[in-house]
Amino acid sequence: MAVILDGWPASEGIASGPVFHLEWGLPIVPHVTILEDSVQKEIERFHEARLWATERLQELKSRTAERLGPIEARIFDPQIMMLEDSEVVEGTVRYVTENRLSAERAFEWRMLELRALWSRTSHPMVLDRLNDLEDLVVRVLHHLLGHHDPTDLAGIDEPVIVVASDLTPSLTVHLDPTSVAGIATDQGTRTAHWAILARSLEIPAVVGLGDITKRSTEGQQAIIDGRIGRVVLDPGPSELESFASRQQRLTSWESEIGAVASLESVTKDGQYVELRANLDMPDEADHARNHGAEGVGLFRTEFLVVGRGTMPGEEEQYKAYRSVAEAFPSGAVFIRTFDLGGDKFPMFLHMPQEENPFLGWRAIRVCLDEPELFRTQLRALLRATAHGDVRMMLPLVNDVEEIIQVRALLDEETKSLTNEGIPYNAGYKLGVMIETPAAALDAAELARYCDFFSIGTNDLIQYTLAVDRTSTRLAKLYNPFHPAVVRQLHQVARASHAAGIEVSVCGEMASNPLAAFLLLGLDITVLSMSWPSLPEIKKMVREVRIEDARRAAQKALAADTSRDVTECLVDGIGDSIDLTAFSGRWSLSAPK
Ligand code: PEP
Ligand code: MG
Repeated sequence: MAVILDGWPASEGIASGPVFHLEWGLPIVPHVTILEDSVQKEIERFHEARLWATERLQELKSRTAERLGPIEARIFDPQIMMLEDSEVVEGTVRYVTENRLSAERAFEWRMLELRALWSRTSHPMVLDRLNDLEDLVVRVLHHLLGHHDPTDLAGIDEPVIVVASDLTPSLTVHLDPTSVAGIATDQGTRTAHWAILARSLEIPAVVGLGDITKRSTEGQQAIIDGRIGRVVLDPGPSELESFASRQQRLTSWESEIGAVASLESVTKDGQYVELRANLDMPDEADHARNHGAEGVGLFRTEFLVVGRGTMPGEEEQYKAYRSVAEAFPSGAVFIRTFDLGGDKFPMFLHMPQEENPFLGWRAIRVCLDEPELFRTQLRALLRATAHGDVRMMLPLVNDVEEIIQVRALLDEETKSLTNEGIPYNAGYKLGVMIETPAAALDAAELARYCDFFSIGTNDLIQYTLAVDRTSTRLAKLYNPFHPAVVRQLHQVARASHAAGIEVSVCGEMASNPLAAFLLLGLDITVLSMSWPSLPEIKKMVREVRIEDARRAAQKALAADTSRDVTECLVDGIGDSIDLTAFSGRWSLSAPK
């Protein structure tokens, strides 16, 4: 009998395949001591495991190099090097020889010891290795215990549906879309950064399924529908039939995309709406253009650093930024400075363990505290301004002081570029993301210090409503139609119009047709979103009238509850568009 599980749609697309359980975590290692005559055998077992792990990492490295490029593939280097490190190897061998521990127990002890040792030092080069160490320990211990490598998809003959409790951006970046047909998780939300990355990788995903890890078994057939947020285990003939017909509809919609992409993005009463794309990787630029993006409203640069063993250099960053700028010769390209922390932790930067990482050392705070990292990025960005309309955007700004500090750094970097004779656009633009209530309330002040606003509703909603954007349990409370959110959007739009600077929205809200209708009504007519959503939003734009949107937004602004807000919008949009056609994203927050 088929089992139907409903969760939250996180990444578009429909797929089927066998379940693959990805269990990423430290296994329990039994305390085993060995006899003297087994010492040699255990040492050999350890060396064999080292060799196995090296080969496995080399394999992953070359696959990543093919898929994402040689630079991204370097994320595996620190772990490969660690397997050769005398502190790791000799220490483990000593525990086997002197303490008569099994290979796995000896390795676990040695690595725990090194972890403690490295944690005590304040040398950043040493601290940076802790994340790699964690990853490596999980991999090697599973092997020594005879478990399957939790992330190894190499031996599979058909693309699988990865089932996990939750994922992280660095694990997701390792998933190869040719082997992974879909992702289904117990936890997670659409705005978790790994889910955003899955969208960029075009891997369908459903999150917040509660207990799919328990209810599914390895190898069991599953259908995943990332559009409506549903997973079907053991589908019967009727589910398979509906799967095939939904897939067919999706394919025919895909064939329409090219045609829609070339249509003008104008409402029925003549309001032009600029549609831009959000990118996580530079090589998404072509997809974005083919889906009708006129520019890039948000290029999340963190994916150049998350999962990397070393800090990306200026030249490498410059090339990445320049390639995106050149892909949009006549459009604006907004590149955001590193938004690290929260749920994105690069290996090379020692991020503290925090009680509330989303309220912690994150985004602009990290940039300003890590001048080497930040200055390198600013230089690369400045150099990219010579190749198109590249604009620099700062995440999580709360305070005018932060902009002043960044401008001071930019002044210094432009001076050194000038001295070195390196070209950049002296009229470069610097803007901020409005992502906190503090920034929304202070929008009029912030507007005096920057060239544009881009509203990051994913975070603005989380901070306004005190609802963790990654919490499945709270997903129902994560409500973009909450009156407090609507009023802040209105306030930011008004402040930017009064100051004569551009305002756009680059959070997920922009990809929800009803929410996008609200944004138009608030006179926010530049929308940026995950590029797969662009054609549908353009279709919506072409079906509505800006005057109706304005009227609906005025009513929404006076509403007491989010239900009232959505009612005003649904009434306003009327029959001009069939909202059920947007089934997946229609329920941005409302439970199905
Ligand atoms: C946002 O917060 O809305 C946003 C676009 O940034 P991110 O999702 O990367 O935090
Ligand atoms: Mg954000």
